[in-house]
Amino acid sequence: MPFLNDLTMAHSVIDLRSDTVTQPTAPMLDAMRVAATGDDVYGEDPTVNQLEQLAMTLTGKAAAVYVSSGTQGNLLALMSHCERGDEYIAGQQAHTYKYEGGGGAVLGGIQPQPLPFNHRGELDLDEVVQTIKPDDFHFARTRLVCLENTQAGQVLAMDYLKEYSTLVQAAGLQRHLDGARLFNAAVKLGVEAIDICRYFDSVSICLSKGLGCPVGSLLVGDVALIQRARRLRKMLGGGMRQAGVIAASGIYALQHHVQRLQDDHVRAAHLGRAIADLQHVRLASPVHTNMVMLDPTSVDIKILSTYLETQGIRLSGPRLVTHLNITDTDIQQIIDALQRFDASVH
Ligand SMILES: *Cc1c(COP(=O)(O)O)cnc(C)c1O
Repeated sequence: MPFLNDLTMAHSVIDLRSDTVTQPTAPMLDAMRVAATGDDVYGEDPTVNQLEQLAMTLTGKAAAVYVSSGTQGNLLALMSHCERGDEYIAGQQAHTYKYEGGGGAVLGGIQPQPLPFNHRGELDLDEVVQTIKPDDFHFARTRLVCLENTQAGQVLAMDYLKEYSTLVQAAGLQRHLDGARLFNAAVKLGVEAIDICRYFDSVSICLSKGLGCPVGSLLVGDVALIQRARRLRKMLGGGMRQAGVIAASGIYALQHHVQRLQDDHVRAAHLGRAIADLQHVRLASPVHTNMVMLDPTSVDIKILSTYLETQGIRLSGPRLVTHLNITDTDIQQIIDALQRFDASVH
């Protein structure tokens, strides 16, 4: 009974909590089954090496390292760019700052300096400039300014990235992108990932989100940075052995699951348009990619989630995320359920 999971688990519930819930497809599992492997701690796993090469080509960076998760990729970036007593600037709502257990501070002795994201998911660049600390022994040394793209499903404009990059470089600081959903941004803008990555010194990329892998992320940057990251990865317990088995899913995803992100975006947009027509349930922000964000002041999200759960639809907070395992039929079912809920609100 091959791929029972595909047929049963994925479709028993329409799971919109995140694009992390995807099941590996049959051809992805085939690619994993036949992957050539070696000991990656010795640098001898040909499939991991091939994945890292592919990441370098796609991002235009000189080096890449395969890591267990996006959290590990971001942590390695922070610790490779910064020393103890240094500081990084990031969004108040940024994954790196808010959702990664404070790893930079706990493990790297790196002080975060959060600033609010505006409604487009950007850091205000004037505010960034004012926040960069002067060279003075009273202060932590500001070293790094992090962005996130996509941020809560929103794509950062290329003009903004250019301005950010010029400014950060002029200040002599480093530029890191949390590109967990880099390819969603690239596909949405109709540009190549490399066009976005040129504005950053390092980029972390999740393979286990919209790209549909069971596990894995990448960190790319220059040779010296990735050398430091490799040492830190080992220190953090992230050195893996015959990791080609999982890396093969990454190669498969980068070859076959990038352009199809467009399908997720089209489905999310369709869902967004249907929600815009409702009386009570409202959107919090425009739908750019695969995330539909509901306005939590428009309806009680708890009551909505409880109702949708009875309809076989699962949310996490106000967020509806489309992915590899969400079909057009699912979207129609979600719209029907939302319309029934909306009509029941007084
Ligand atoms: C998911 C995610 C990460 C990394 O998450 P892991 O679960 O550790 O792979 C980083 N940044 C953003 C924006 C994310 O959505």
